[in-house]
Amino acid sequence: MKEFNCDIHIVGGALTGLLTAYSASKLGYNVIVSEKKKINLNSKKITTDTRTTAISEGSKNFLESQGVWKLIKNFAEPIKQIKVIDKEVKANIDFINPKAKSNLGYIVKNSKLINVLVKEIKKKRNVSFLFESSLHDLSYQNSKIIGFSNEKKINAKLVIAADGKKSAVRKLLGTNLFTKNYSEKALVVNFLHEKPHNNIAYEFFLKNGPLALLPMQREKNMNQSALIWSNIPKVVDLISSKGLQTEYIEEVLNEKIFKQLGNVLRINSIQSFPLSAHINEKFYEDRVIYAGDAAHSIHPIAGQGWNLGLRDVKSITSLLIKAKNKKYSLGTKGFCKEYNALCYYDAYRLFEITDKLNWIFKKDQKQYKFLKKIGLSLINNNRAIKNKIADFAMGI
Ligand SMILES: Cc1cc2nc3c(=O)[nH]c(=O)nc-3n(C[C@H](O)[C@H](O)[C@H](O)COP(=O)(O)OP(=O)(O)OC[C@H]3O[C@@H](n4cnc5c(N)ncnc54)[C@H](O)[C@@H]3O)c2cc1C
Repeated sequence: MKEFNCDIHIVGGALTGLLTAYSASKLGYNVIVSEKKKINLNSKKITTDTRTTAISEGSKNFLESQGVWKLIKNFAEPIKQIKVIDKEVKANIDFINPKAKSNLGYIVKNSKLINVLVKEIKKKRNVSFLFESSLHDLSYQNSKIIGFSNEKKINAKLVIAADGKKSAVRKLLGTNLFTKNYSEKALVVNFLHEKPHNNIAYEFFLKNGPLALLPMQREKNMNQSALIWSNIPKVVDLISSKGLQTEYIEEVLNEKIFKQLGNVLRINSIQSFPLSAHINEKFYEDRVIYAGDAAHSIHPIAGQGWNLGLRDVKSITSLLIKAKNKKYSLGTKGFCKEYNALCYYDAYRLFEITDKLNWIFKKDQKQYKFLKKIGLSLINNNRAIKNKIADFAMGI
């Protein structure tokens, strides 16, 4: 068995794991990232994920402080306006940015985010990757935590579990969690269209679930957007199944988006994701902290899932700075508990808000429709409330 030593062992090398590795390496920690997938770091296509992430202004500020935003911004399309439309009750809300010189958010392809992070990490001498390394056991010795994965033994002072919704670390340590199964899937389609999107993001509340249209960067001088539609699995499976003719899919999309973006000209990619949400009972164990989807996952209705993960990375970074300044020792109980105190409430609040938003907008009984109509027009006519919601969405 090959043995490795490091300060921090990050389990999972996707968005959360990579950003954490990058931020920790900047502070001089020795980091090992173990990732179960086989990834070729020199390949142009590191991930098959065709999703986009809506990055809030607050997240952008953190990425800026870490020195990576200047690289990501080349691939980021600003959101200047958000229109919320409930077709059932015929009510709208328009959000524009209450603050000058900043946007409501930015749309970036996940593949671009990952490519930028990998490229920057590859320049660091204190980060090593172990691919095809699926963590299957953990044990403790003195002040070390030892991870075992595929004939490898990794000794560390701290394990950061960034291994996603189905976290292996969580299963191994028996950390409890609360879950919500939505019996829905998200259809994610990237497509080219006739009319410019004018940097407007749309959120339509439809009977079966919300549909978001997000402005993407132009591709070869053509207008491009992403559609994320939460719907019953039967519909999503039908549209994303390979057997369906492109013309039929275009027809379905045109019915939803024609007014805003004109005709669909080409479909670039279609993927689907089962939707569920969870929050761990706590975000730490002995010498372990949970970050990103390993700690919490939420309904994508507000595009906030990774923004929350990014806030975890921000908290980890601030604690790593404190550990450098000898305020805490890396991986000790005090360190891990402080992390939990910094992140838990924020995550719990968003877990509940997104769950309730999805619930209320799917209700189509008369009394709920009436309440939604009143609520939406109240918000739309009150600048102070609108600005507060915009600040919340921007994460500032
Ligand atoms: C349809 C949809 C749209 C979304 N849109 C947005 C949005 O607009 N804005 C936003 O902020 N968020 C959005 N999200 C949420 C966002 O995609 C996730 O929060 C984010 O991708 C989570 O990243 P992660 O790195 O924490 O976890 P993951 O991406 O799940 O990565 C976990 C990694 O760990 C690895 N791994 C798993 N088990 C092991 C093991 N045993 N050993 C080693 N490695 C392991 C996996 O291979 C994987 O690489 C969306 C989600 C969905 C479903």
